[in-house]
Amino acid sequence: MITFHVLTIFPDAFSSYLKTSVLGRAQKKKLIKVDLVDIRSFSSDRRGTVDDRPYGGGPGMVMKIEPIYKGVAQIKSRIKKKSRRQGTRVILFSTRGKPLNQDMTRRFSKYQNLILICGRYEGIDERVADYVADEEVSLGNYVLSGGELAALVVVEAVARHIPGVLGKYESLEEIKGSYPVYTRPEVFWGKTGKGKKQSWRTPSALVSGHHRKIKEWRKQL
Ligand code: SAH
Repeated sequence: MITFHVLTIFPDAFSSYLKTSVLGRAQKKKLIKVDLVDIRSFSSDRRGTVDDRPYGGGPGMVMKIEPIYKGVAQIKSRIKKKSRRQGTRVILFSTRGKPLNQDMTRRFSKYQNLILICGRYEGIDERVADYVADEEVSLGNYVLSGGELAALVVVEAVARHIPGVLGKYESLEEIKGSYPVYTRPEVFWGKTGKGKKQSWRTPSALVSGHHRKIKEWRKQL
C-alpha cells in the first residue's frame, strides 16, 4: 500500500479523476490511498492566506513557506504514528525539476508514502525546494498553472507499478511495450482533408495470423 499525500490549494480538483478506472479500482482494493491536504488549512490567518509578494519585486505572488512547512510536518507526524517515517519521499513540482520518466515512477513506487507539493501563482518560496523537499520534479519543458496535473500524473504513473493495480488488459499493455496497434475494421474508408475517399489499411503482417511475421513487424519499428 502506497499513500500519496497531496498538498494543494485545490483539493477538489482531484476527486472525479481519482474515481475513474484504474485509480478508482486501486483505491477500492486498498493498493493505493490518496490523502488530499488543503494548504490553506495551515495558513496562519483566518482568510487562509498562502501567498505573498515576491522579495525583489516582479509580477505575481509567491507561495509562502510556512503553510507548506507546517503541512508537511503534520503529514509526517501522522505517518509516524501509523508506522515508521522511513519510506517517505517529499516531491516538489517545479519547472526547474528533473523531467519525470518511467525510471523515476518505478523508483517512487517503492516508497510507502509520497508527499506531493503542488505550487500555484509564480511558484513557491525557494526554501521549500532547498530544505523541505527531497527532490524537484518537472512534467516537461512547458509551464502549467499549477502542480495539480503533475500530481495526478505521478499518482497514476506510480500506481501502475504497484502489483495488482493493473488488470488483465492493462498489464498486457505494459508487456507489449510500445508499438502501434490496430483493431477492426481491417480497412477503414476515410476522407482526406481535400475530401478524397481513401482506404486506410491495417498492415498485412498483422492480419496474416503468422506469428513470426507479426513479431517481426512489431520489432522492426
Ligand atoms: N514562473 C514559474 C511558474 C510557476 S507555475 C516558474 O517559471 O517556475 C506554478 C506552479 O505550477 C509551479 O510552482 C509548479 O508547482 C507547477 N508547474 C508549472 N509547470 C510545471 C511543470 N512543467 N512541471 C511541474 N510542475 C509545474
